[in-house]
Amino acid sequence: MEATKKVVIVGGGFGGLHLVRRLARGLRPGEAEVTLVDRRNYSLFTPLLYQVATGELPSHAVAAPLRHATAPAAFRFLQSEVEAIDAERRLVVTADGPLPYDHVVIAPGSVTTTYGIPGADRYALPIKELADALAVRHAVLSSFERAAAETDAARKKALLAFIIVGAGPVGVELASSLRDLFERTLRPMFPQLDLDRDTSIVLIDGSERVLGNMDQRLAWLAQRTLDRQRVRVVPRTYVAEVLPGSVRTRDGARFDAKTIIWAGGVTTNPLVVACDLVKASDKRLLVDHSFRVGGRDDVLALGDAAHFLQDSKPLPQLAQVAVLQAPAVARNLVHLLRGESPVPYRHREKGDLIALGRTSAGAKLGNVVFGGLLAWTVWRGYYLLRLSGARGKATLLSEWILSYFFSRTAADTP
Ligand SMILES: Cc1cc2nc3c(=O)[nH]c(=O)nc-3n(C[C@H](O)[C@H](O)[C@H](O)COP(=O)(O)OP(=O)(O)OC[C@H]3O[C@@H](n4cnc5c(N)ncnc54)[C@H](O)[C@@H]3O)c2cc1C
Repeated sequence: MEATKKVVIVGGGFGGLHLVRRLARGLRPGEAEVTLVDRRNYSLFTPLLYQVATGELPSHAVAAPLRHATAPAAFRFLQSEVEAIDAERRLVVTADGPLPYDHVVIAPGSVTTTYGIPGADRYALPIKELADALAVRHAVLSSFERAAAETDAARKKALLAFIIVGAGPVGVELASSLRDLFERTLRPMFPQLDLDRDTSIVLIDGSERVLGNMDQRLAWLAQRTLDRQRVRVVPRTYVAEVLPGSVRTRDGARFDAKTIIWAGGVTTNPLVVACDLVKASDKRLLVDHSFRVGGRDDVLALGDAAHFLQDSKPLPQLAQVAVLQAPAVARNLVHLLRGESPVPYRHREKGDLIALGRTSAGAKLGNVVFGGLLAWTVWRGYYLLRLSGARGKATLLSEWILSYFFSRTAADTP
């Protein structure tokens, strides 16, 4: 009798988690031994991370336990650091020992990059992991506490100044939500502070406009909201150096702020860079339209780690892309396990959503762009549906209701 095939999935983020769910439905009982390995025991819902950073959501609202997906399917979950993928010997090398495989699916996502800008790693706060979001929230709340006790006017202003580098969706949503936190929650709690005079939020980006990779009409909507919220956008400006409490730009300008947040971009995961597999010029794994790396049946990749070319352009590094790829990867994996040919995938973009303040958003569905309350409702509804499990959805909904009608979380807890 043929031995049961071993499948190892590296990374339980958007790609890995949705893949597990689809495989659970697509595989016959006992058809394959599936192991999911991740350094965390939860899948992080990054699109809502900025809401943890600004006190709208608690951390557990954006973290889905991975065993909720693996246990019902009788798949194995291993919480461990993946140190290497040895494609020659068909081993995933983890901190807890090697995992042999017949097929590996590589989905470890990407990592934050500061492009080697001096001081950026040291003095700016990233926003990629849950701990990053909590560190930003701590920086905001502790700055307000210190400002309340500060008697020197200049030091008070510096404490209440916030710089966000990167005016893509993460930077825009974070800036807008920060202002909401100030206005709705912190203003009544700090009557001794003059928020109109002393707080500032500056959004710096090298592009011509905010949301440089999104539709121009969404950028207009976002810019209007940011203007209304007194977020100062500084476009066409490259950061040259980050110092403790200030940012120096290539054109010689200096911006001062106690808190500097880096929302400036991602790069290829070092685990992927180190793999001895076929890669694109950005060092991501070059996959064919069936998600095979370099045409190999035993190595597949998806999500941020995969360079999937469509119409001569790589698909963007988005959760939406990873989630839509996962069912196609699951289907192809089942085909490969059964000795059948895989089916090519074609990506169809679903649209873009951007949260703008407490009751507004921007949405692009097809070629239609709209804003206001309707877009806000679509935005909230979409994320509610996307979050996994009934408990996750109920938590998100109740926390949103609490934050909307009452104040946000302003306790500076770890
Ligand atoms: C703050 C933020 C906001 C975003 N907002 C949006 C948005 O609104 N819309 C959108 O479409 N996209 C958004 N994105 C992009 C989106 O998060 C990514 O495109 C998406 O997560 C990619 O999915 P993935 O499965 O490839 O990787 P991930 O979801 O990042 O999952 C990778 C998994 O691999 C694990 N892992 C990595 N390396 C190792 C290792 N060596 N050992 C063990 N485990 C490892 C990680 O712990 C993680 O669980 C956002 C990203 C960020 C950072």
